[in-house]
Amino acid sequence: MRGRAASLAWLALSVGCASVPTPLAPGARGSMGGPSYGVLLSPVALPKDAPGVRLLRPTNGRNFGTKGLVDTLLFAAAATRTREGGSPLVVGDMSGPRGGKLRGHASHRAGRDVDLLFFYTTPSGVPLESPGFVKVGPDGLAEVPGPARFARLDVPRTWALAKALLTSPHADVEWLFVAEWVEAMLLTHARAAGEPDHLLYRAANLMHQPKDSAAHDDHFHLRIACSDDELMVGCVHGGPDWPWRPVVALRDDAVPLDD
Ligand SMILES: [Zn+2]
Repeated sequence: MRGRAASLAWLALSVGCASVPTPLAPGARGSMGGPSYGVLLSPVALPKDAPGVRLLRPTNGRNFGTKGLVDTLLFAAAATRTREGGSPLVVGDMSGPRGGKLRGHASHRAGRDVDLLFFYTTPSGVPLESPGFVKVGPDGLAEVPGPARFARLDVPRTWALAKALLTSPHADVEWLFVAEWVEAMLLTHARAAGEPDHLLYRAANLMHQPKDSAAHDDHFHLRIACSDDELMVGCVHGGPDWPWRPVVALRDDAVPLDD
């Protein structure tokens, strides 16, 4: 019987309910499953001409995410715009229009992951257009093609980006993957700039060098947490339940667990 139900469900998926992962939850929206095995429902595209944003590869169809992720990126772009010139916020791969497997990435499947390039200046501090994925060393310098040879990590502006992501009113951050030495530079700057302890504590927990992939010395990999509504229908964070996030309460219309 279970096999028959499963094949009916599969049939429903394959004949026209492709945007609905299960007929049992037709109202599900947003991120379903985990970052490495999920899908994306009701996708939102990050606009190619959003102010303060440049898509690294504008035609590859990987600029989709949950509404919370897209709104967070727009919020961060607005927070890091400067009058002095320099690069807009350069956004790499997000998810495909329905999520799922994305070639070249182990995650990015559920609409909650995005790669973001750091900001740079010349070694003497003049804002630069983004040189792309260039590896920052513990001295804050990155080798770049061309006669200048080196760019310097723009620590204040890259911290402003991290701060905007960590304080976004549109989504909670699950992880901000970044190399340990870049994290150290950003936190040292933030502490010297007088940022409050609660923000430093959160930043020190959420910035994290992954153990099972590249060090992330050339970009941030932002992963936002499931929204409460998404959690109710099968979204899986892909990280801890951080103590500062509210515990999800059953909604009024949810079925009590002991009934
Ligand atoms: Zn990534």
